[in-house]
Amino acid sequence: MCGACGRKLGFFSWGDFCRQCQKLFKTELTRLEKEILSNKDLSGEPAVIIKKGNKKSRIKLYDKVFRQFETRGELSQAEITALQKLQQALDLSDDEVNAREQIKLYEFLAKAREAIEKGVSLPVFDLNTHLKPKDLMKIAPIIRKNELIHFAAPASLMETEEVISEKLLWGVKTTIRDVEATRGALILTSQRLFLCPFPLEKPVEIPLFYIFHVEGKLNSLTIFSRARGRPYDFRISNRAAIKIFETCLHYLLTH
Ligand SMILES: [Zn+2]
Repeated sequence: MCGACGRKLGFFSWGDFCRQCQKLFKTELTRLEKEILSNKDLSGEPAVIIKKGNKKSRIKLYDKVFRQFETRGELSQAEITALQKLQQALDLSDDEVNAREQIKLYEFLAKAREAIEKGVSLPVFDLNTHLKPKDLMKIAPIIRKNELIHFAAPASLMETEEVISEKLLWGVKTTIRDVEATRGALILTSQRLFLCPFPLEKPVEIPLFYIFHVEGKLNSLTIFSRARGRPYDFRISNRAAIKIFETCLHYLLTH
């Protein structure tokens, strides 16, 4: 039986819908996609068939739109709102779209930018509500008196290492490779940037007044410190998080 209209399914049909309903479902997905991408808004109620349709297809559409919005490297407030509407129209939960953390980060970035525009102090980041419980339980940060936390995200410090790749008659051949030196939660405060280590890992602490340059890339944040010859290369898997570190650091270093 077709999950939408109740018609008996033919012998060769696959999936939960009859051919007509499958077509309707696809048409409606395409309509939602076009509308959200061109207007950043949705008009009217989505067709009922959406809720009954394949969940994977709905999640796929959401991810596609999210990535499309993110291509500029950032989400605007209008795009954040549009994504929330799309999530509702597709009848997807926060867990299903994995958007909660992504969108929350972009919202936090918008808040930080607003503070910067006004020239006031950066928003305070609450580790307990913003960090995922699985990361939070692995760290025990010691925050000093008068120190404010402005942001935090899981990160790895990468170092380059020379390794022997081949033993030759007259010596050895070496190659350079990136290795993870330590990892934990990278925490930006009003005084320092520090990597609060996960169990058995080493801490890293960089006072803000040592930092003279910051560079955010696709999956890493590079910090140039006056106290160290080579820059710190922090691997961070989340693009929005890198953007927040970069934005907040620039502001803290110039104010
Ligand atoms: Zn049907």
